[in-house]
Amino acid sequence: MKDRLLTPGPAEVPPETLLELAKPVFHHRTKEFRAILMAVTQDLKDVFQTKNDVLIFASSGTGAMEASVVNLLAPGDKALCVRGGKFGERWSELCERFGARTINLDVEWGQAVRPEAIEAALRKDPDIAAVYVTLCETSTGVAADVEAIGKVVATSGACLVVDGISGVGAMPMKTDEWGVDMLVVGSQKALLLPPGLAFLSVSPKAWARIEKAPRRAYYFDLRAARKALAKEDTPYTPANTLIAALKKSLDLLKKEGLEAVWARHTRVAQATRAAVEAMGLKVYAARPASALTAVLLPDGVDAEAARSLLKKKYGVAVAGGQDQLKGKILRIGHLGYADTLDLLGAIVALEMVLAEMGVPVPLGAGVAAAQKALLAR
Ligand SMILES: *Cc1c(COP(=O)(O)O)cnc(C)c1O
Repeated sequence: MKDRLLTPGPAEVPPETLLELAKPVFHHRTKEFRAILMAVTQDLKDVFQTKNDVLIFASSGTGAMEASVVNLLAPGDKALCVRGGKFGERWSELCERFGARTINLDVEWGQAVRPEAIEAALRKDPDIAAVYVTLCETSTGVAADVEAIGKVVATSGACLVVDGISGVGAMPMKTDEWGVDMLVVGSQKALLLPPGLAFLSVSPKAWARIEKAPRRAYYFDLRAARKALAKEDTPYTPANTLIAALKKSLDLLKKEGLEAVWARHTRVAQATRAAVEAMGLKVYAARPASALTAVLLPDGVDAEAARSLLKKKYGVAVAGGQDQLKGKILRIGHLGYADTLDLLGAIVALEMVLAEMGVPVPLGAGVAAAQKALLAR
């Protein structure tokens, strides 16, 4: 049986990149590696749609989230955190940990934050230093309207920091056009790489705050990273083999074209949602993202049991729910290298697993709806 990794990160990696990862380890202080580092930095800027600085760290995505908090905020600064799921909670926890006065904007799980709510919070506390939001809240499958939020935040003195870890590469994210001051991305979601790299873009508005904030980070010191990058270098040993592999993955995205990459994700996401509805199940997110679909199973049906059957019988790995959603939802990742047939296969397997569990799902209904959605485009 084949393993099919359809979790919303880590996600499958294309063979071109895997082959690069199979090569011998090389030294990083060389002309060849400097060229790769600078090329990758430029390619990331293109994917993030920014002219801002982009810095690369050897960490999971959370490392770059931490960097965006510890560098930008001075203790006592006010931070507005949108909390509508696990990853919004992470923003809040990070801000608390580093001594910010954290203002939580709680959003019901499954719903998207209303930009007007952010506007109201900024009006109430005009000295908020930073607004922390999540492009794709991977715990609920909700997409935030970052474009509208950017318009609201731009009129204030606050910096807009976006966790785009699972969203970037799967859905539009126009950093400069939307006024995003810091964008956090991880390697193992839509960027076609294993876990291990994190990326952070920093705008001039964010740098101005960073330069005034006390220097509290060491490994994640953005000033040190920027200084080294100006000399085509990194302050510490970079994850050079991952960065070389990233070049291959970014080449693939470049070849396909960013707009085409986004359109592909939209298409597969729409087909997945059509399948879910045709199966009599519910899409959990009110404003669904294109990186994953969170599927709400009927009351009394154990989503964890469905998840383990999917893996055991069909080799399909999907994610379950977290916290209050544990046992209630399945999260199917359709980001990065996952293609149409991977998804159709997952839908077929889900229909069979649910039928086996006694859920009255008409066999073939989901896959037919997905096929229709795909052909209609
Ligand atoms: C995966 C994910 C993270 C966490 O990233 P790690 O790489 O596990 O540190 C943070 N935010 C979002 C939205 C994610 O999808």
